Amino acid sequence: MLGIDFGDTLKKLGLSAAIEIIKRQKRILISDTTLRDGEQAPGAGLNVEKKLAIAQQLDKLGVDCIEAGFPASSKEDFEACRLISANVKRPMISALSRCHKTDIKLAAESLGNAGHWSISLFLGTSPILRKYSLNKSKEEVIETLKDAIKFAKGFTNNLAFGAEDATRTEPEFLYKVCKEALDSGAVVIGLPDTVGWLLPEQVKKMIEGVKKNVPGLRKAFLATHFHNDLGLAVANSLAAVECGANIVQCTINGLGERAGNASLEELVMALKTRKDYYKAALNIDARQFFKTSKLVEELTGIKVSPNKPIVGRNVFASEAGIHQAALLRSRATYQILKPEDVGQEGITLVLGRHSGKHAVYDRLHKLGYRLAAERDENKLEEIYQRFKEIAVTKKEVSDGELAGIASEVLEGK
Ligand code: MN
Repeated sequence: MLGIDFGDTLKKLGLSAAIEIIKRQKRILISDTTLRDGEQAPGAGLNVEKKLAIAQQLDKLGVDCIEAGFPASSKEDFEACRLISANVKRPMISALSRCHKTDIKLAAESLGNAGHWSISLFLGTSPILRKYSLNKSKEEVIETLKDAIKFAKGFTNNLAFGAEDATRTEPEFLYKVCKEALDSGAVVIGLPDTVGWLLPEQVKKMIEGVKKNVPGLRKAFLATHFHNDLGLAVANSLAAVECGANIVQCTINGLGERAGNASLEELVMALKTRKDYYKAALNIDARQFFKTSKLVEELTGIKVSPNKPIVGRNVFASEAGIHQAALLRSRATYQILKPEDVGQEGITLVLGRHSGKHAVYDRLHKLGYRLAAERDENKLEEIYQRFKEIAVTKKEVSDGELAGIASEVLEGK
């Protein structure tokens, strides 16, 4: 753990003081939904034991909240929430729930053993969801959410309400929904971009509008949940942070429905690397990123692409000659992130057709060949030329192959 723990603050100060202090400190709370939205990705299904293993790693990573599942959706989800609550005590454990009494009861029952727990209620608010998913009028939507929040307050005060498809909801109606949810007792207002519709500039407009028109929000948390259908989930989350969002929901490896959710590791590294700009305080131990990503990759079976920011295999590899030569002098030339800061091993210079002499000579030196440029210029040149001949025929020249070339040249073969 690196900074102030949200659970501890909550325990010591109580809910309203904790909200106030977290806001004053510009703390961004990271809510991970790998086990709920992430697991909804086609083919990602996780059994209960695997979910617990991921939750324990998320705890080590330092996330503030783990959305452990949707207990009413299946017995397995209920059991996963129960098991995680019993075994992972530091972070807030939350469960998703429709605005139904049976869902709320199951959520509360599954989380009862947690150190801290909360229920995340959701209800569609956009015209399209009101009409085709709920068949409810605006008035009925308001009544439903009020009743559900009041009922859920019988179990816990840690209540989040998310206006599903908030980003396609009429602004005036969205303000009314937020106001009614807060008046009924919600302490977190979620504005999920359920279908990945919004653009960063519009995120700012939406949040400014809600802040201006819903004064009660000053005493509550504002949460986001962006989808990546247009590749904007991280950019939109960052825009929201800039406008004062307190909780950002995201997933490891950006897993989630369709194109996925905002990637936790990308979002956090943007906030950390550009602290000069965002000035946000976080509680995440980024050195756990690579390990966490690999665990999620292994347990879900969904592969991380090599160029995936932060955790991809190629992120700290370089093949281009000019870049390699500069990186050997100073890695700040072409790398803004340090591999050890995110738990990756080190910068790899891949020897291939784009590599130049600098990288090849450097690798020879690392392999133990002590050749001096002045004295052995001809030999070095010959090794490099032979390397190039092989490099054009394949993707990568291995250390063994390079050593083979060097030995042949030095032995005069
Ligand atoms: Mn979602």
